Amino acid sequence: MSDCLFCKVVEGSLPSEKVYEDDQIVVFKDIYPKADVHLLIIPRQHIASLNELDETHDQLIASMFRLLPKIARQQGLDNGFRTIINTGPGGGQEVYHLHIHLLGGGNLLGFA
Ligand code: 5GP
Ligand code: ZN
Repeated sequence: MSDCLFCKVVEGSLPSEKVYEDDQIVVFKDIYPKADVHLLIIPRQHIASLNELDETHDQLIASMFRLLPKIARQQGLDNGFRTIINTGPGGGQEVYHLHIHLLGGGNLLGFA
């Protein structure tokens, strides 16, 4: 049993508000939203961070990026959205399961 928080989200052993899932990707609401819409896009597969990517992940990463505008549209973010990926301690990463933050709605100015 993994002790990774987001692997637990994928398995369903940690409750989350999922808004999308397919055979490779899960999207759910951030528990401490920093914008009106704040979602996390994660692979089902455990990958700790961007530092662990190799060429076997190319198709998965492309799918995650191509999903972003679709999810944003579903969330009503017609005027645009922000994506953030924190990597390692220097990047402020807290959960070591690769995730893309998708933020939008309201006023995002001042949020790094
Ligand atoms: P990081 O700093 O690693 O890029 O972002 C981790 C994100 O995960 C933070 O925005 C934090 O609010 C979110 N988070 C941490 N624990 C949980 C949790 O148990 N459930 C959900 N849905 N989000 C979480
Ligand atoms: Zn994990």
